[in-house]
Amino acid sequence: EQAENHPESITRYQPGRDESHLRELQLIADLHNAIHNHDLSMNYQPKLDIRTGQVTQVEALVRWIHPELGFISPEEFIFLAEQSGQIHGLTAHILQRVAADARQWTEAGLDAGVAINLSAMDLTWPDLIDHIETNFDDWHHDRLRITLEVTESALMQDPEEALATLRKLRELGVTLSVDDFGTGYSSLSQMRKLPVQELKIDKSFVLRLDAEPQDQLIVKSTIDMAHGLGLKVVAEGIENLEAWRLLQAWGCDLGQGFHLSRPVAPADLADTLRALDARRPELTRPTMEYH
Ligand code: C2E
Ligand code: MG
Ligand code: MG
Ligand code: MG
Repeated sequence: EQAENHPESITRYQPGRDESHLRELQLIADLHNAIHNHDLSMNYQPKLDIRTGQVTQVEALVRWIHPELGFISPEEFIFLAEQSGQIHGLTAHILQRVAADARQWTEAGLDAGVAINLSAMDLTWPDLIDHIETNFDDWHHDRLRITLEVTESALMQDPEEALATLRKLRELGVTLSVDDFGTGYSSLSQMRKLPVQELKIDKSFVLRLDAEPQDQLIVKSTIDMAHGLGLKVVAEGIENLEAWRLLQAWGCDLGQGFHLSRPVAPADLADTLRALDARRPELTRPTMEYH
């Protein structure tokens, strides 16, 4: 076959393309070592009850500081793990780390459930249930306080298969959350057919909530409709007090974002939760300004 008949073979030689391809190859190779040498760590970001200002849960977010390339965004390396057949190994490692961290903070007297992100490909992984059961069985926390976050687009890739997995996960007693809601093409009526309990409004709708009337409209009506369907609503990406107060006035259930806390290392979790507790008067002060 002649190369010039294939448009892909032309784009392959565009400047910059080889460099990014090399970076990908390096990251794919190094990810394998990172998983096995334990170069990955987890950060935890508090999810707060918006009404009471109390932390109910922390979301586990994986971190990779590459020895030469520095911070690698999870969005970049999770994608590469999926492409290179390493995602299940990575998820298994993450589940193990989170269980160990959670056991430690529980023993240290902290009372926080945990939310774990799953990749779309994990929903078709036959060993997923097993890994969750073995890692979390000895954690003396109520299983109801483990939440699994699955993106809206992951659920829509293969709704039948996703449904089967979600049902099995529900039998374990974990809470199921739809992450990044609003960025895909699904509707709330499709969510209603899934055994999920929580909906996370994507941060793109929340980041400028204080200044964008259209985002306000979208978020407020999503909260109302989700509540009508019996779902709890989480807002991520809360970066200022105004957004927090709007969400509070609209009855949003849980909130997380840099205004409350950035994701932190497990060693800093106790201090972070203490500092947030001290801010409860500010976070729960009643307001009349918003409707
Ligand atoms: P996500 O699950 O939707 O996580 C929320 C992302 O928003 C996190 O980015 C978090 O640090 C960031 N964020 C939280 N509050 C704010 C805020 O107020 N402002 C802004 N600008 N950003 C905020 P991060 O940690 O870079 O993770 C990005 C995505 O990578 C996650 O999106 C998730 O899809 C994926 N990811 C992260 N950790 C894991 C993991 O352990 N497993 C899997 N499968 N995916 C993960
Ligand atoms: Mg998430
Ligand atoms: Mg999200
Ligand atoms: Mg996201």
